[in-house]
Amino acid sequence: MQIDFQKSPDGLVPAIIQDAVTKKVLMLGYMNREALEKTMAESKVTFFSRSKNRLWTKGEESGNFLLVQDLKVDCDQDTILIQAKPLGPVCHTGADTCWDEKNVSNDFLATLEDIIADRKNNPTDKSYTASLFARGINKIAQKVGEEAIEVVIEAKDSNDDLFLNESADLLFHYLILLQAKGFQLADVISVLKERHK
Ligand code: AMP
Ligand code: ZN
Ligand code: ZN
Ligand code: ZN
Repeated sequence: MQIDFQKSPDGLVPAIIQDAVTKKVLMLGYMNREALEKTMAESKVTFFSRSKNRLWTKGEESGNFLLVQDLKVDCDQDTILIQAKPLGPVCHTGADTCWDEKNVSNDFLATLEDIIADRKNNPTDKSYTASLFARGINKIAQKVGEEAIEVVIEAKDSNDDLFLNESADLLFHYLILLQAKGFQLADVISVLKERHK
């Protein structure tokens, strides 16, 4: 592979990382000859990190490696395009790409979980959530079952509004069930991530 490493005085060329499936641009890094050779030998993206001033295999700490699917050089051999399969969020902020905000909707679910935990620990007479905790796990589980059936029913009809509302009911009661069992959404996400490996 011909690459013009001397074009830039530091001997680095930019490498654009693109998701092989979604085609989203995930991140940009720099490679010297050694980084490119290691990337090709291992089929895992390794950059030359300008801040660490050393070879940096993306994912070396997080485990979120970038598996190389395809590697192309541009028209004048001074930029690399790599199509990759990311094994997890690419940005160190936890976002999928370096140009995304981190899981905005998940953040709200985390806020909601905090509120639910607060209702469990500091019950008030007026709180519906607190009253569910008071009725016990079996009752909460039964509510989840009922809401799931309502989602199924609305999925068959064509009213989007009802479907979304029942989905919200299901998610809300499911979060309460998780808390009642002593778990959080993060515990379920860990199981999903483990399966994804
Ligand atoms: P990782 O390579 O994913 O194990 O992350 C190791 C370290 O590299 C992080 O603590 C960050 O300092 C840095 N880092 C990770 N991902 C990125 C990124 N997409 N852009 C810039 N720096 C990153
Ligand atoms: Zn070019
Ligand atoms: Zn980033
Ligand atoms: Zn409902």
